[in-house]
Amino acid sequence: MSLDRRDFLKIGGLMACGTALTTAVPIVSAMTEANETRADAGNQWAMVVDITKCPPDCTACYDACRKENNVPHFAEPALDIHWIRKVTFKQKGVPGAEERNMPVMCFHCEHPPCAHVCPVAATFKRKDGIVLVDKHRCIGCRYCMIACPYKARSFVSKHVEHQPGDNPDVPIRMHGVVEKCELCVHRIDKGLEPACVEACKAQGGGMVFGNLNNPDSEVSKIVRSGKATRLRADLGTNPRVFYVGI
Ligand code: SF4
Repeated sequence: MSLDRRDFLKIGGLMACGTALTTAVPIVSAMTEANETRADAGNQWAMVVDITKCPPDCTACYDACRKENNVPHFAEPALDIHWIRKVTFKQKGVPGAEERNMPVMCFHCEHPPCAHVCPVAATFKRKDGIVLVDKHRCIGCRYCMIACPYKARSFVSKHVEHQPGDNPDVPIRMHGVVEKCELCVHRIDKGLEPACVEACKAQGGGMVFGNLNNPDSEVSKIVRSGKATRLRADLGTNPRVFYVGI
């Protein structure tokens, strides 16, 4: 019988628990089962952002993301960290077009160039399509920042201290690594939506999250309708974040 790393660690942990074995088993099993179920290849998470529903001054998704993920704010714009950026634009060739804004985050690309260039395999894709960075592996070379066509990544250039009120579910990242939107993977594994989507919905906004593999999900229906587009589809990265209204 071959054991993968997870099984090996689980057995090692149980042996170390000794007398606590009877209480530890169900807790460990339940957590592992929940995580494996949500990271199953049968789930392919995606998001649709209808920017026609983004009010000009709304910052709900940006604020919720910072709070949920303990994203620090640095005063110097060149050093600030963004898991979601607010991009403003005017439609080309439309006389008198109004300025619009849209949230841009990691698109959890099906073919992520950031992962392909990482020399230490710190960036990887889960079975459910979520692209993550192992901060313990990251050497801060920043090749991934250059490879990402969507400028979705930030370099942590300063030491950050835990602040009162920080979310204990998301560890503070160390100085010298690259980070980005993780699609609130810690919430997805609990059966919740990403914090930005929840905050947007509370404002009556246009962010929708769901499983592309489920034909009955709202995300699947919008994508099938042909109304949603991918940014720079010509690059072949196949983003899992779609936009309506661009
Ligand atoms: Fe990687 Fe950028 Fe695609 Fe996110 S958007 S998966 S960081 S290439």
